[in-house]
Amino acid sequence: MRTLAILSALPDEQSGLLQQLEQPERVQRAGRTFWRGHWHAHAVVLALTKIGKVAAATTTTTLIEAFDVDRVVFTGVAGGMGAGVGVGDVVVAQNFVQHDMDASPLFARYEIPEHGSAILTCDVQLTALLLRAVQAGLAGVGRHFHQGQWLPAATVHTGLVASGDQFVSEAAAARQMLSDLQAAGFSPLAVEMEGAAVAQVCHDYGVPFAAVRTISDRADDSAHADFSAFVTQVAGPYARAVIGQLMTLL
Ligand code: SAH
Repeated sequence: MRTLAILSALPDEQSGLLQQLEQPERVQRAGRTFWRGHWHAHAVVLALTKIGKVAAATTTTTLIEAFDVDRVVFTGVAGGMGAGVGVGDVVVAQNFVQHDMDASPLFARYEIPEHGSAILTCDVQLTALLLRAVQAGLAGVGRHFHQGQWLPAATVHTGLVASGDQFVSEAAAARQMLSDLQAAGFSPLAVEMEGAAVAQVCHDYGVPFAAVRTISDRADDSAHADFSAFVTQVAGPYARAVIGQLMTLL
């Protein structure tokens, strides 16, 4: 039976999803735990990419090779980069760029060698479904209290997401990264550490991919402050609501 894969990077991003899985079966491969089961009559496998691009590529390759996966959806957290992309907002990725790819002068900065472009595009149909699931899912979750204040209702953004092997936690570094990317014509809304790698593996295998990230921080000097609490209290419930909705739309 063809299977939908749902990936997250961190255990706290995944735990709410795991609770929804019917008849969960645990499979170990490549030093990772894959959870196979059903959700709303869909065959589903849940897995953690772990953190960073190589780890994410290993998980995704294993998933596709070993679990007959025909669609991959990623749900996790990211740092906000674009103007107006605040903590508690949600970004549905349309495409990805690797902010740390630089094989210049052989290739243009950010271009993925032998891919012919810097950009990895998400599947249009699956992304449209995910966006609908985000809008419906967020309508159903209450507002959240975080760092001493109520978060405003989440704004949903769609656009480019930058990935790389760096937790961006300095405002100056984030500004530099953004202005370098913008100089090359790329304006990411968010930065994280796995999405572009998952997108590249899915592209190579021809497997549709879509991704959603809740903004946990602004990739600045306070990025680390309340990261874990945010993932548990806000991003986890969002992911569960969104994927629950997605299951009714597929
Ligand atoms: N605190 C965690 C480490 C998280 S690393 C631990 O101790 O295990 C950050 C994770 O969140 C990555 O999976 C990355 O994709 C995402 N992320 C959130 N904010 C980010 C930021 N500002 N820069 C890069 N990645 C970020």
